[in-house]
Amino acid sequence: MIRKIITHPNPILRKVAKPVLEVDDEIRTLLADMVETMYADGGVGLAAPQVAVSLRVIVIDIDSEASEKKYGVLKIVNPEITDREGQIEWEEGCLSVPDFRIKMKRSARVTLRYLDENGIRKTLDCKELLSIAVQHEIDHLDGKLIIDCASGLKQDMYLKKIEKKKKEGISF
Ligand code: ZN
Repeated sequence: MIRKIITHPNPILRKVAKPVLEVDDEIRTLLADMVETMYADGGVGLAAPQVAVSLRVIVIDIDSEASEKKYGVLKIVNPEITDREGQIEWEEGCLSVPDFRIKMKRSARVTLRYLDENGIRKTLDCKELLSIAVQHEIDHLDGKLIIDCASGLKQDMYLKKIEKKKKEGISF
């Protein structure tokens, strides 16, 4: 089931998401819905707070953008970065911050520990786009958005722009 993606400045995006205590059917449904929602909106990653669920759950599928190794769709519960190395700069966008892009500096490689959809502990070495996606989605779990890295002036301009769009939009 496709879920609705919430956008900045919705306060749910600012909450620190809670760890999942047990990977059960409810979590598996959430993961499946998030994958469907991510594909429907053309994203390469999605975090549960973006569909208004404040849990430490993310999905990632970078295969459409990456030239290197194919990872398939990754369903990730309680992610933790245990190691980082190097630096990479990339212009990022976010489904919860529409019409906004910003150059972000991230770790070039990270080691990710997580539970898969069956609750099995996994470790994954992530580099390049996958490393960026992992860090972007974990930021969501900590209530952080890419717009936080813009200047105060740019943040104000963005909020004014989306406010204006709302007024111009058709209401039913
Ligand atoms: Zn995002």
